Amino acid sequence: MSFSDVIAQHRAKGILSRAIANERVSHAYLFSGPPGVGKEALAIEFAKALYCTGAGEKPCDACSSCRRIRSFQHPDFRFIFPSSAKNVEEERAVLDSVMANPYSRRKPWATPTIGIEQIREIRHTSTLRPMEGRRVVILAEADKMTIPAANSLLKILEEPPATMYLILTASQVNSMLPTILSRCQEIRLSPLPDNEMEWTLIEKKEVEPLRAQLISRVSQGSYTRALEWLDESYSERRENVIGFLRCCLKDVKSQIELVEQWLREYDKKIIKDILNLALLWFRDAMILTAAPLSENLVNIDQLETVEKFVGAFESIDFEKAFTEIENSVHMIDRNVQINLILIVLMIKLRQTLKLKGRQK
Ligand SMILES: [Zn+2]
Repeated sequence: MSFSDVIAQHRAKGILSRAIANERVSHAYLFSGPPGVGKEALAIEFAKALYCTGAGEKPCDACSSCRRIRSFQHPDFRFIFPSSAKNVEEERAVLDSVMANPYSRRKPWATPTIGIEQIREIRHTSTLRPMEGRRVVILAEADKMTIPAANSLLKILEEPPATMYLILTASQVNSMLPTILSRCQEIRLSPLPDNEMEWTLIEKKEVEPLRAQLISRVSQGSYTRALEWLDESYSERRENVIGFLRCCLKDVKSQIELVEQWLREYDKKIIKDILNLALLWFRDAMILTAAPLSENLVNIDQLETVEKFVGAFESIDFEKAFTEIENSVHMIDRNVQINLILIVLMIKLRQTLKLKGRQK
């Protein structure tokens, strides 16, 4: 089957396959959608399909063109991505990671951008005749273009050469120039369904079925996140969540101790992971409160613990809990002091939990 390296996204694959079959391919596409759903994987498969010389469905994955795209050795194919200081070795390592698995491209820089010199290079090559009939350029995370880069790209989009195909990918479409958006055919990718992600983890990563189910649910539609969770100790993070919630009910001294311990042991990303898992924990608790026999829980293997949690309180203000946790995650992103954020969050969460038989 074609596009077999892309998980789910059947609608998008259908549109692109038909465009190729009917020879009605646009010169500029924008693959949009949340992080980790396979925008870059689909872009690479589509590039293969554009060059594929195999008979039948494209890409065939067997012809010389398909194989050269797969190994990034096709002379007319380019994969551009945001980077920081020009470092050929680092950039090579990033491309290697995409080649190995387009769902887990390495991102070694803190705030990388696509700069004007990267677009100038595309503009320059766009004036040259491609070696093999057409040129395909993938611009990954096009929403990370600087303003000069975006303006320069616009010049290409205004009059794209007949032999050139641009595939942009972006998760923050709102931050892109409307003039660029209006010149691209947008194809929206959706979060991956749990069952397809689960199947992929079992088939391709040989993950045990129960763990695959857990990781799929906790990854919320992002296969990239699922791959990260495979490496990280998910159970330990969840223990952190349970510990954090217990601590909300304790005295200030214990709360400060917990926060100090976290700051010693964990970086910002891990703390955000824990808070995001806490969101899922509250979500499960809310589902259980509404329907005691639900199969939709993320923490399916911890049914008893979630039940106990729900049972311990007369009521839980879920809306407030969601808002407070989400606010805290945003504040961590905005570099507010983490110890303050966590202490305040514990106090706020304490207010959302009404213990049985006691005043709030
Ligand atoms: Zn092929």
